[in-house]
Amino acid sequence: MADQDIQRVAIVTGASRGLGAATAKHLAADGRHVVCVARNEAKLNEVKAEIESAGGSASVATCDIASQESIEGLIDGVFKERGRLDILVNNAGITKDNLLLRMTDEEFDDVIQTNLRSVFVACRAALKPMMRGKWGRIINLGSVAGVVGNPGQANYAAAKAGLAGFTKCLAKEMGGKNITANVIAPGFIQTDMTDVLPDQIKEGVKTMTALRRMGHPDEIAAAVTFLASEGASYVTGQVLCVDGGMTMC
Ligand code: NAP
Repeated sequence: MADQDIQRVAIVTGASRGLGAATAKHLAADGRHVVCVARNEAKLNEVKAEIESAGGSASVATCDIASQESIEGLIDGVFKERGRLDILVNNAGITKDNLLLRMTDEEFDDVIQTNLRSVFVACRAALKPMMRGKWGRIINLGSVAGVVGNPGQANYAAAKAGLAGFTKCLAKEMGGKNITANVIAPGFIQTDMTDVLPDQIKEGVKTMTALRRMGHPDEIAAAVTFLASEGASYVTGQVLCVDGGMTMC
């Protein structure tokens, strides 16, 4: 079967809303079967229904990515059911912001567990199916906070900077197996995660951004979809800031 005839299977974590939902829709529009993953099954079903009504292919799997068992069961289940796994988008993430002097052990550990350790577990589990298919695309959602830092986000920035180092190692280890691994580092994008920020901060963000506005989830989804495509076959180990020109690094 020629490569263009294969329907590649993608897992997108955090697909119940925000950047993950937008990414799931873009990947499905690009012809992938998308397994939409998060904890909220009702929201996942809404995303699946939108994909299907647009002519795409999707399924739903509930999973708490803070649980190693849950992630490993998810990857195993997708491989057993679909017979392949080609694309893994580790998008699910949380914030538990606090200034370092006040940050609790729990706030630090929870963010590292959900935003960094889960990605290690998911990638490790996904490598065998990808190696079997002799093709793979891993895209991890970082953040500009992991590139330039942000007050109140020492836990989050540590996890996101950790993802960058982790992904570069993965890219070097798996390049010979035709598996690429990259990070998309969004700037400030309009989602539930940023809705809670005070207006003053949102206005400040706009003045720090060359394009003078916050980003739209579709603008992140488009970058992820490129990195997941056949056309991105020579791009690996990169941290791509999709931030409207906020960092320029
Ligand atoms: P969001 O609107 O808060 O959505 C987060 C997603 O992650 C939801 O689908 C949520 O689903 C899922 N999730 C959270 N904890 C989970 C868990 N334990 N198990 C399974 N799923 C879980 O966030 P977003 O703005 O779309 O951000 C997506 C990613 O981009 C995150 O990694 C974030 O750090 C990164 N990012 C976002 C921005 C931004 O400006 N928005 C900027 C930089 C980086 P359920 O609640 O249904 O489980």
